[in-house]
Amino acid sequence: MHLLNADLHCHSNVSDGTLTPEALAERARAGGVELWALTDHDEIGGQQRAREAALAQGMQYLTGTEISVTFAHVTVHIVGLGFDPDNEALVAGLAATRNGRLARAQEMAEGLAKVGIPGAFEGALRYVGNPELISRTHFARYLVETGVCAHTHEVFHRYLTEGKPGYVPHRWAALRDAVGWITGAGGVAVIAHPARYKFTPNEEWALFTDFIGHGGQAVEVVTGSHSTPEQVRYADTAIEFKLAASRGSDFHSPGESRVDLGTLPDLPGRLTPVWELLADRLHTPA
Ligand code: AMP
Ligand code: MN
Ligand code: MN
Ligand code: MN
Repeated sequence: MHLLNADLHCHSNVSDGTLTPEALAERARAGGVELWALTDHDEIGGQQRAREAALAQGMQYLTGTEISVTFAHVTVHIVGLGFDPDNEALVAGLAATRNGRLARAQEMAEGLAKVGIPGAFEGALRYVGNPELISRTHFARYLVETGVCAHTHEVFHRYLTEGKPGYVPHRWAALRDAVGWITGAGGVAVIAHPARYKFTPNEEWALFTDFIGHGGQAVEVVTGSHSTPEQVRYADTAIEFKLAASRGSDFHSPGESRVDLGTLPDLPGRLTPVWELLADRLHTPA
């Protein structure tokens, strides 16, 4: 049976990707994607462009975003799919979540200046496509360009993760709020790349249980952030918690991303694809 080639997680220059929504749509189509969602961090400003470009390329489209959440002192990402992008509570919630990124970035730059890297705030800003969405990724690109590090992963490892000089702890949205904004706008909430969080089994159980309690319905199983064993593990988790499953590359940039749009393996056949919950929210080419 042919499973739809769905890529329901990626980033444009409206957040921390480097391509425009239109260029991403083209790349998705070239990669064989049949159902696409653009999921910029804490931001839906690119949705209309992405939807129009998707339909022009002959792809089906679902609205998308990836909300930054703080759960048990850890940053967790919740993808939202198929919501109404004009929903007021969602729009306000995302704006509140973006708020604070600028002050955080200034603090990050102060930390970097202290270890002999001046001007990182202005430097990072040069890479920002959306002034409300300055992220660690933009700092990473600046530090690579200036030769401080060889690649962005090295920047994160040496400077931008917990305990490192450019790391600033930040309080993102509450899990209950993020899931509520998505479901309140008619969408489905998805736990993004669960293997990335390094939770203990108890903490992970709490995340999934609370998420479901708040109305969450799906988990990413096949993602650019998961190894093959992790895909198997979270396929089991999806079954255990009766969650639908999502698939997405988490593509950010041609030079940086290991996995390209549309190229991941199919979801295991025993899972319910998340788009089956969203049949009435699909935008379909004329
Ligand atoms: P922020 O929302 O500003 O905390 O930035 C988070 C983003 O940084 C993620 O969405 C990834 O795009 C990127 N990121 C996080 N960890 C790494 C890493 N180890 N290597 C490369 N990029 C990373
Ligand atoms: Mn990102
Ligand atoms: Mn993420
Ligand atoms: Mn992402």
